[in-house]
Amino acid sequence: GTAPRASAKERRADVRGIPVSNPHRLVYSVPRVTKLEVVRYHEAIGEHLLPHLLSRPLSLVRCPQGTGGDCFFQKHVQTRLPDGVVAVEVPSSEGPDTQVAVTSIEGVIALAQYGNVEFHTWGARMPRPDRPDRLTMDLDPDPDLPWSSVVEAAQLTRVLLEELGLVAFLKTTGGKGLHIVTPIRTTRGWDEVKAFAKAVASRLATVAPQRFTARLTKTRREGRIFVDYLRNGRGATAVAAYSLRARPGAPVSMPLAWEALDPREDLRGEHFNIRNALAHAPGADAAWAAYEESRRTLTVNMMRALGLD
Ligand code: ATP
Ligand code: MN
Ligand code: MN
Repeated sequence: GTAPRASAKERRADVRGIPVSNPHRLVYSVPRVTKLEVVRYHEAIGEHLLPHLLSRPLSLVRCPQGTGGDCFFQKHVQTRLPDGVVAVEVPSSEGPDTQVAVTSIEGVIALAQYGNVEFHTWGARMPRPDRPDRLTMDLDPDPDLPWSSVVEAAQLTRVLLEELGLVAFLKTTGGKGLHIVTPIRTTRGWDEVKAFAKAVASRLATVAPQRFTARLTKTRREGRIFVDYLRNGRGATAVAAYSLRARPGAPVSMPLAWEALDPREDLRGEHFNIRNALAHAPGADAAWAAYEESRRTLTVNMMRALGLD
């Protein structure tokens, strides 16, 4: 005869040959998203997510009890490294440090199976962790600001970067702001790139002080957007495109075409999420298709234009 059918709760779940523990545990309560759905999201989005992760030291947000429980940033993986995950040695203020990077979709799936929900990356790739290859301008608005003001600020940031001779790409964060990412050639170290990003933030605050602030203090942020240039220091990270966020609604950080920025359509928060991100991924990839060919060198002329020497 036939074996008795296992109930849904007992049924063993494999994703690409990786056994998923506690597949029916809820990782998000609104909407109700199980661990199996989270792991399958990573399998499905893997081909889109992986290019944003490859060769980059990672920082992971792990939520072992789901996103309703404690979540914590992890730069180190405690367990034996699964297939598709490798150790990378990076410089830190306390000397060399060992972090991890993924090499395949299997690695992404295995990290999701370990309870990792968010994938954050360094702004540099191995084997040159000392040479940043992107600028990330992290626009952090006062949460009360209307979307139209965030849109206007992003467009002003793009104009400044393009006037300098750089190319700017846009993505949502899955949170309250936007990330503007600029691919650069690896000709400069962290100190120079961070100083450059700081000068961009200061310039924005100078030309549009009613809109931007380059100061960290929250009290000075009222009604304005903090241009967080600190994403550009050694060891700092930004959430990867297509990563989930451990926030209500299971939001996803989504690449956007500049033309998709519409002051009437708020794309923040859970607008893009675990349930619709895959459908938007081909268009999102297309919006960033010119990314590699848009790498520019941070030149002395650009630095001078920002008042740097
Ligand atoms: P939002 O749009 O809501 O600001 P965000 O991802 O930009 O979303 P931020 O708080 O601005 O969130 O943080 C920017 C980046 O800084 C994050 O994506 C993350 O990589 C990094 N970061 C923030 N907080 C921490 C932390 N406690 N530990 C490590 N990295 C952090
Ligand atoms: Mn931010
Ligand atoms: Mn920030």
